[in-house]
Amino acid sequence: MPAEYYQILGISESATATEIKKAYRKIAMKYHPDRNQGDKKAEEKFKEAAEAYEVLGDLEKRKIYDRYGVEGLNSSGFRGGPSDINDIFSHFGDLFGFGGQREQAPGGPIQGADLRYDLTISFMEAVHGAEKEIEINKPDTCWTCEGTGSRPGYTPETCPTCKGRGQTIRSQGFFSVSTTCHVCRGEGQVIKEPCTDCDGNGLVNKKKKVSLKIPAGVDNGSRMRLTGEGEGGRRNGQAGDLYVFLYVEEHDYFKRDGNNIYLKLPISISQATLGCAPSLPTIHGEQVLKIPAGTQSGQRFTLRSQGVKSLRGGGNGDMIAIVEVVIPSRLTERQKELMEEFAKIEQDTAGTEEEGFFKKLFRKTA
Ligand SMILES: [Zn+2]
Ligand SMILES: [Zn+2]
Repeated sequence: MPAEYYQILGISESATATEIKKAYRKIAMKYHPDRNQGDKKAEEKFKEAAEAYEVLGDLEKRKIYDRYGVEGLNSSGFRGGPSDINDIFSHFGDLFGFGGQREQAPGGPIQGADLRYDLTISFMEAVHGAEKEIEINKPDTCWTCEGTGSRPGYTPETCPTCKGRGQTIRSQGFFSVSTTCHVCRGEGQVIKEPCTDCDGNGLVNKKKKVSLKIPAGVDNGSRMRLTGEGEGGRRNGQAGDLYVFLYVEEHDYFKRDGNNIYLKLPISISQATLGCAPSLPTIHGEQVLKIPAGTQSGQRFTLRSQGVKSLRGGGNGDMIAIVEVVIPSRLTERQKELMEEFAKIEQDTAGTEEEGFFKKLFRKTA
């Protein structure tokens, strides 16, 4: 049984999603690079925890990890943990609020955090667009208490310690220092009778199916924003947004660079020498390509507008076929005979039509 990620976060293998999130938040805050400038060890811990959370914080990945370990994750197409600090910040969304913490008045509405979901799609789905349904696991508004955290029929009371301000003022010599009220944790209210469905949280974990219309032309790293599909709001606050990050699988034959598609096209010596017109696949179907006599290996042929549709409008990219002349490694007797005869004539003409490459080379290096 793999347990390493659990050890990193200091939790048991039966920890709930909330416990995992809490544990990660604690470690991330403690070892945050802003607070440990230049401390390599802290940075290492911070990254480690991020990697663990990336997996354990995602129900689907956690299931795979529990059963098959890190190797299982790799082979199922999930990337390992984020490799650099910037990646880590980008997946902090569901912990610290995607677009940074939002200001809110004590006791007022609390907007839900933005969430991130990583989705892998096939090469062709990215090229042609697709409709997908994803299932997300997210903290959503508890409808028993309508996100107030109080049992129905009860209302939260103004915090007696800070009188609803969310801050307490403490005198320190000549100065007065204002700190977040520890009784209500800055919320300005205390819940006397917590809602039993959400334990006074105002949020409950829910599974939700979300339909997604992926437009044609998206690429690796494209991001889609689904308004209102993030974490639920509390106390009449708006829900956050859901950001879907797209990862595109590679194709066996087509390579993509922006909106252009590249395809290696193997042809035989005789096809290259005499010319040919093979039918080749493009992302939009079959196309005949005329290859003239005397085509060299590495030569490129452009099929205009046979590439990917531009996301921003304005035409398609191109398809570029790159010729690869394949030298036969095995010949029949007859082929060998003909090749030898060909070679003989070749030698007879060498140096007459044009000066051969080797002759030139010897002359230059002599
Ligand atoms: Zn509730
Ligand atoms: Zn208070």
